[in-house]
Amino acid sequence: MNRTQITAGRDAHHRPKGVAADELRRHNLAAVVESLHLHGPVSRSELTATTGLNRSTIADLIGELTNLGLVEEGPAVAPSGPGRPSPMVRTRPQGAVVLSIELSVDSVAVATVGLGGYVYEQVRVPRPRGESAAETVEVVAGLSGELIEGLPADAILTGVGVGVAGVTRRSDGFVPLAPNLGWRNVALGEMLASALGLSDPVLVANEADLGALAEYRRGVGAGVPHLIYISGEAGIGAGIIHDGKPMLGAAGYAGEAGHTLINPDGHLCRCGATGCWETEAGEAALARLAGIPSSVTGLGLIDTILARANDGDQKTLDALAEIGRWLGLGIGNLINVFNPQLVVLGGFYHPLFPFLEKAVFKGARLGALDAPGDIADITAGGLGPDAPLIGAAELAISEVIADPAGHTRARSG
Ligand SMILES: [Zn+2]
Repeated sequence: MNRTQITAGRDAHHRPKGVAADELRRHNLAAVVESLHLHGPVSRSELTATTGLNRSTIADLIGELTNLGLVEEGPAVAPSGPGRPSPMVRTRPQGAVVLSIELSVDSVAVATVGLGGYVYEQVRVPRPRGESAAETVEVVAGLSGELIEGLPADAILTGVGVGVAGVTRRSDGFVPLAPNLGWRNVALGEMLASALGLSDPVLVANEADLGALAEYRRGVGAGVPHLIYISGEAGIGAGIIHDGKPMLGAAGYAGEAGHTLINPDGHLCRCGATGCWETEAGEAALARLAGIPSSVTGLGLIDTILARANDGDQKTLDALAEIGRWLGLGIGNLINVFNPQLVVLGGFYHPLFPFLEKAVFKGARLGALDAPGDIADITAGGLGPDAPLIGAAELAISEVIADPAGHTRARSG
């Protein structure tokens, strides 16, 4: 097949003519809502330019979205160039509010987030290690109830997004294994739906997958179609964005990079194997190398490490360099397999990044082949520790964006 034929085939595939009219309309509504959700208020004429749709189509779509309560128009602003003043279009946050939940090893966070990314309220509380799934769900339900109570009277709750630090089945939110939470075979999606008493769908995803989604949509990786997000907490998780889409695997289990072998002579992992990446580059390794008792974990450990590193304590700096080396070697493996443009470090790697950076780059270049290594940059996340919580909101809001009319009608009918 020659080049001309390939091009012709592609054009035919994308030509709207072959697409059912309602499907095209849903696609256009989604494009307008997504643009406003991610980029904020714009004028009608800017929307025409960014979506590539004509003026009358935009007016028509905005009319429907206004009726659905998802957007509103503000006063017209004078255009910078020639032409009539164009009204400003913005999302109406209360038109679609989601409950966003993050279940990590050391904390539980809940937020209410409206269309456009407007955060009504957000709360994070410590989670004792060893707490059972039932106990954690009860805490989440209590916090969620309070936040939902606090929403404006006209807010419409449209969904729930949940990030959890464990292996997660996307279809129903079942968690077969969350080694660092100490959970096994937990029907988390069902438990949360029942505890929240909401008819809204509960979408459960792996925490690192949601960190990747958040950094790709709103953070340091905005517009970077090939990125890997690496989260360090008690363990290591990876979220992969491939060609602008989350790479989840057959069931949603992809990205468990923390449990890939990096050192056959290494330490025993909580998953039962020996020498997993997280046993060499994770929290326990950091404490071990820095000479800090294993009872000091989570934020307590990271604060201690940061204080000592800032004081120039050599043992701590050496520990960070060693962690950074293992972290970099593992990143080199991922670079070889996935050829990312950007590797984003989240979780506790974010605050420690200035001390890890040099060793991480060196390890990654050592592990990666030259060609993919030359392309990949490594950076600290842009959204800080809340990236997975923001990603959980994005996951739930993406359902509204995908079919604005269908989603809203389903709720009012
Ligand atoms: Zn493991």
